[in-house]
Amino acid sequence: MAAKTYKIRAVVIRKTRLGEKDLIVTMIDESGALVKGVAKGARKPGGSLAARLELFSTVDALMACGRSLDVVCEVRLVDVKSIPRELELSSCVAPIAELLGFVAQPDLMQPRLYEMGRAAIARIADCQGQSAQALAICAASLWKVMAQSGFRPSFTPCVVCGTRNLPGSGETTAVSVLDGGAVCANCPRPADAIMVDVETVRWCEALIRSKFDEVLEYEMDTAASFEVLQLARMWIRAHTGRDLKSLDFLFTSGLF
Ligand SMILES: [Zn+2]
Repeated sequence: MAAKTYKIRAVVIRKTRLGEKDLIVTMIDESGALVKGVAKGARKPGGSLAARLELFSTVDALMACGRSLDVVCEVRLVDVKSIPRELELSSCVAPIAELLGFVAQPDLMQPRLYEMGRAAIARIADCQGQSAQALAICAASLWKVMAQSGFRPSFTPCVVCGTRNLPGSGETTAVSVLDGGAVCANCPRPADAIMVDVETVRWCEALIRSKFDEVLEYEMDTAASFEVLQLARMWIRAHTGRDLKSLDFLFTSGLF
């Protein structure tokens, strides 16, 4: 009996080697669900599957249900232009893809995750020669994905008493990652609280509520993006229980 098949449009977020010739491909489909499949023979040089299963690309795939893992039978690249071609740019996409792999689940519909991931990759692919802009989109995307997954921070109302006052520019504020945001000076400081520049907190808030077009207009500098990314790294670790390895690469690569 022929295996049951189904078609998906999906973003390729991870490729893992399987034996000598095969790959396990992890994707997030249009419904926002995580889909894994074996691409048989995809590591053979010159194989058509290998060429079409590019990391961070959007593909139309024909899948066959398998006993443990489904099988990727046919693949068509949907948008060749939206694949980042420079190392700086693919390094900015990698943490977004890795985070999507943490928060997406098989059979869990979160279509906003797919839309956000695809839009972020396309924007970053467009940032040729503008690595600072790509870094800002990366920072915005990580916070947006966390907010979308139920871990939106509260920075202006204090998470303990609800007061709306943040200290002024140039000052620092206590942030408790575990309690979910900023704690004002009048409230007892939680044990895990760290002091963060008010500017960094303001950037996080602005990035979460801004569209990618607006993020590009801010012309955020690299240092500010790295501060926002450091806070995102702590946030992601506390709320997903995992470290983004590709974010560590971004910090240590010296590319920016
Ligand atoms: Zn307070």
